[in-house]
Amino acid sequence: MKFNTKTIHGGQHNVDPAYGSVMPPIYQTSTYSQSTPGGHKGFEYSRTRNPTRTALQNSLASIENGKHGLAFGSGLAAIDAVIKLLQPGDEVVSTNDLYGGSYRLFKNVFEKFGIKFHFIGMQDASKIENYINENTKLLWVETPTNPMMNIIDIKACSSIAKSHNILLAVDNTFATPYLQQPLDLGADIVMHSATKYLGGHSDVVMGALIVNDNELAEKLYFIQNASGAVCGPQDSFLVLRGIKTLHIRIQRHCENGKAIANFLTSHPKIEKVYWPGLPTHPNHDIAKQQMNDFGGMISFTTKGNLMADAIKVVENLKIFTLAESLGGVESLAGHPASMTQASIPKEEREKTGVVDSLIRLSVGIEDVDDLIEDLKQALG
Ligand SMILES: *Cc1c(COP(=O)(O)O)cnc(C)c1O
Repeated sequence: MKFNTKTIHGGQHNVDPAYGSVMPPIYQTSTYSQSTPGGHKGFEYSRTRNPTRTALQNSLASIENGKHGLAFGSGLAAIDAVIKLLQPGDEVVSTNDLYGGSYRLFKNVFEKFGIKFHFIGMQDASKIENYINENTKLLWVETPTNPMMNIIDIKACSSIAKSHNILLAVDNTFATPYLQQPLDLGADIVMHSATKYLGGHSDVVMGALIVNDNELAEKLYFIQNASGAVCGPQDSFLVLRGIKTLHIRIQRHCENGKAIANFLTSHPKIEKVYWPGLPTHPNHDIAKQQMNDFGGMISFTTKGNLMADAIKVVENLKIFTLAESLGGVESLAGHPASMTQASIPKEEREKTGVVDSLIRLSVGIEDVDDLIEDLKQALG
């Protein structure tokens, strides 16, 4: 199957064996009857396995070209399961402009258990090797990054990981498998906040992991069941439904993203535009190699770099909603310095580019003329 068929049929039985329902039923049950102890149909207890979650996990595996999919109660719960593969004394090398919640989980939860994290600039992959030693067990990569839209070379990271016999995990939340398939580029683990584009409608919080290796999958299924951060059947159904339109949604996100990046680039009040599809983007060449298109996430700064200006712009927007999160059908705008990145000291966040006037857009799939009009009036 090609990708646009996999989103709809990948890993799915086309018809439910019980009553012929075309869509997967929501098995809203915690347990399953047994004819004799152990005499069940593959399902015993819903933390371990639930048919609606299994349908979703098969879909996740299919769209990422992986063998095994695992769904969790949130993106962070999925990351939590990956780090639980490690032991005290192990080390992880990660990007320095990581999603804030991933950074908090690594730094404020797992460092307490004796795991060491190095947060470094990964746009130049050759620098990564300086931080690898005999304790290093995992490279944690996020690309494109949030909110600066930096691109990290997944293939280069994979060859470094392979030469040192360590795992490479890629947070593929921003790109989605429509734009980038990290397992095909050599990653061992793909992670998603399915809350974002996979769900696609801002109505569910969920996380996902996809892997190829059977042994690694076994370990992660064990942690999924043993730690128990699973998602419910209703949420599994919603994300499964979201995935069925992933390809047409992302196609439109990309078209609208391109038009808006071009509009912003030529606007007299704009200083800088961060979108990997612009030839001026510092990692544009790698983006072109490893991504099929460039998505609908855009950050920009206003001239003069005043926080008051940026706040006025996001307050004036009428179609774009001022809110955290991303990846839904509706357009959202955020002000990282006072919202998602507010807990990072000013000097620290400015080092990675998160200046006072930075605004981040999650460009939705509304009519692009209306979105551009909205930005025009807000900037005016
Ligand atoms: C939102 C997000 C997460 C965390 O996912 P939750 O579903 O909010 O727990 C991780 N990585 C990235 C890139 C995200 O955008």
